Amino acid sequence: MNGLMMQQPLLISMLLAHAERHHAEQEIVSKRVEGDVHRSTYRELAVRSRRMANAVAALGVKFGDRVATLAWNGHRHMELYYAVSGSGAVLHTLNPRLHPDQVVWIADHAEDQVLFFDLTFLPLVEAVASRVKTVRTFVAMTDRAHMPVNSKVPNLLCYEELVAGASDRFHWPQFDEHTASSLCYTSGTTGNPKGALYSHRSTVLHTYAAALPDALNCAARDTILPVVPMFHVNAWGLPYVACMVGAKLVFPGPWLDGKSLHELFESEGVTVSAGVPTVWQGLLAHVEAHDLKFSTMRRTVIGGSACPPAMMRAFQERYDVQVLHAWGMTEMSPLGTVCTLKPKHQTLNAEQRMAVQAKQGRAVFGVDMKIVAEDGQQLPHDGQAAGELLVRGPWIISSYFKGEGGDPLVNGWFPTGDVSTIDADGYMQITDRSKDVIKSGGEWISSIDIENVAAAHPAVQMAACIAVAHAKWDERPMLVVVKKPGVTTPDAELKAELIRFYEGKVAKWWIPDEVRFVAEIPLTATGKMLKLKLREQFKDLRLG
Ligand code: ADP
Repeated sequence: MNGLMMQQPLLISMLLAHAERHHAEQEIVSKRVEGDVHRSTYRELAVRSRRMANAVAALGVKFGDRVATLAWNGHRHMELYYAVSGSGAVLHTLNPRLHPDQVVWIADHAEDQVLFFDLTFLPLVEAVASRVKTVRTFVAMTDRAHMPVNSKVPNLLCYEELVAGASDRFHWPQFDEHTASSLCYTSGTTGNPKGALYSHRSTVLHTYAAALPDALNCAARDTILPVVPMFHVNAWGLPYVACMVGAKLVFPGPWLDGKSLHELFESEGVTVSAGVPTVWQGLLAHVEAHDLKFSTMRRTVIGGSACPPAMMRAFQERYDVQVLHAWGMTEMSPLGTVCTLKPKHQTLNAEQRMAVQAKQGRAVFGVDMKIVAEDGQQLPHDGQAAGELLVRGPWIISSYFKGEGGDPLVNGWFPTGDVSTIDADGYMQITDRSKDVIKSGGEWISSIDIENVAAAHPAVQMAACIAVAHAKWDERPMLVVVKKPGVTTPDAELKAELIRFYEGKVAKWWIPDEVRFVAEIPLTATGKMLKLKLREQFKDLRLG
C-alpha cells in the first residue's frame, strides 16, 4: 500500500521560491570585483535569477545543456546557481585556479555552451576562448561601464545588460527530481579530472542534512560567510542552505586574505563561516598580529584537509569561536561527517575533548560509512582498526560524468581513497589519503598526526609529512616545513628542536627521521598541500 502524500519533485528552484516568500527582506552582501560592496536581498535575488533564466534561454541554452562559470563568491554567481539549475540546465562551476590547458580539457569534456566569468579571469578566458570547442557565448559578469575594451574574447556579452534586457516573469519548470543540476570536476592530482554530476534531488536532500544543528547548524538568525569557493563543490552547499533557512549571506569576492576577511566578519556581523585550514591560517595570523578579536563569529566549519588541533585551540580558547571539523569530498556533494560533541563528552577535560574534536566527526544523516581491510573484510568500529573508508548515500556519486574511469562502486559502496578509523560512538578519524600513507616496516604511520604535532610548534607556519625511501624500513616519515616569518633559529638547531618536540606526543617510531625547510609548500587548486609535488621533489632522497 502506498502512502497518500503528495508527489512533489525536490527541485533547487524550491529553495529560491521559499527564500523569496519567507525571507524576502533578508540581506545578501557581496564584495565585488569592481571594488564596491553590493547590497541586495532574497527578493532581488529571485527577481534577477528569473531574468537571468529568461536571458539564458534566449542564448539558446536548452534543458540539460551545460553552462559554465569562472567566478568568485558573489551575488551574480548565486543568481546563476538558481537561474541555470532552476531552468533545467546544468551549472558547471569551473575552477579558475587550474591551468588553462586543464580548463580547456574540462570545458570540452563537459561540452559547455556558455561561459560566464568574473573580470578577474579575463586573462584566463582570453587564453582559452579560441581553444574551447563548444562554448558559443562568453558573458562578463559586470556592467557596461566595466566591460573590457578591445578584448580578444569572441561573442562577448555583458551580464548586467542581459539581466536588464530580460523579463522577470518566469515560471520555474517542474521536472523529474533526478535531473542533473550541477557539475564539478575533481581536481585530478592524478589522471584526468572526473566530473561529479549532482541532481536536484541529491542537492535538496544534502541541503536539509547540511543545515541540521549537528551539521553546519544554520538558521535564519545567522549571517553566513562562505569562504569556501562557489567554484568548488558548490561552496559545501552553503548557497542552498542559506536559502533554505533564510540566513543573511555575505560574499567575500576575491578578497580572501586575513585582513579583508576579518573586516568583513566584523562589519557585517558574520556568525558562521566555512573554509579550508590554509585560509584560516592567514586569518589567524592577521588577528594575532594586530591583537584583534571576533565580536560576532560563533562557529567556523573547517574541512577539506585535516584541521590541526593547534588551530582549533586558537579559535576556541583564544577567540571563543567554535570549530566544526568536517570531512567530505567532491563526490559526496560534499558533506560526509561533522564533528560535534555528544552529551557524554561534557565531562571530559579540555584535552580529552580536543582529542574528540580532532576527529573528522560523525556521519550526517543520509551517509553510511564502513572501513575495510585490504582484502575487503569489514573492520570493527573500535577507534583502533584503520582501513579504507567506504560510503554510500543519496548524495554520493554512483558514476562519474560520461562514465569516466568505469564503475567507481564496490558492491554499492563508494571507496573514498581515505584511510580512517571509526570509534564506537561513530566518530570517524582520517589517518591519511591512501596515496599519502607512509608504510614503515609494514606498519602505517599517520602523516596527518605528524603534521598536527608540527603545526603546534611556534616556529612552524605549515608542515607536510611525506614518505621517503629508507634502506631498512622501506619508508620513513620526513617533515617538510615552512617557517613562520621572522624565525631566525638556524636550520640544524630547529630540526633538532622539532624532532625533540615529538617526544611523548607520538609513538617513538613515528617521529620523523628528517626535517627539510622550504620557502613554500605547493597547494592544489582547492588549497590542499600538494604532497605529490613534494614527493617528486624529494624522490632521490634515501634515508638509513
Ligand atoms: P580533491 O578531490 O580535489 O582533493 P575534494 O575536495 O573532493 O577535492 O577532497 C576530498 C578529500 O579531501 C577527502 O577524500 C580527504 O582526503 C580530504 N579531506 C577533506 N576533509 C578533510 C578533513 N577534515 N580531514 C582530512 N582530510 C580531509
